[in-house]
Amino acid sequence: MTGASIDLGQVHDAAAARLRVADQRYTSGRRELVELLASTGRPATIPDLLEARPKLTQSSVYRNLAMLEEVGVVQKVVSSDDRARFELAEDLMGHHHHLICVSCGRVDDFVVSSRAERSIETVLGNAISDTGFRASGHRLDVVGTCADCN
Ligand SMILES: [Zn+2]
Ligand SMILES: [Zn+2]
Repeated sequence: MTGASIDLGQVHDAAAARLRVADQRYTSGRRELVELLASTGRPATIPDLLEARPKLTQSSVYRNLAMLEEVGVVQKVVSSDDRARFELAEDLMGHHHHLICVSCGRVDDFVVSSRAERSIETVLGNAISDTGFRASGHRLDVVGTCADCN
């Protein structure tokens, strides 16, 4: 399961620009979080992030994630447990889907082929055709039990 490949330079430029709009600086702590999230390959919990970078403090990770989320660099991912998970905003990391384990809460990214994406869009478009709703995208999670929990 590999996510879309990420151009880290572009992600940093976009993050800096979005923070600048909110009069915020792209500090080294924020930069480090963006780099971590770009490399984890799956949505990360705060304990995951602290484990990967023991020098970061929990309070600064909380604060920086909240700011990055506010300016649209990071988004929260809902799983089957009540732990907050974070990933880079979809427009930064590319369209993908999640595998959600209902047993341990683990979330993994997966991508489907562009051909399959078009099929999904067609199916969804047909399903909602008489609702008056104008779709701009979709979120599709697969729910089940992960390899470790099986
Ligand atoms: Zn699991
Ligand atoms: Zn999709």
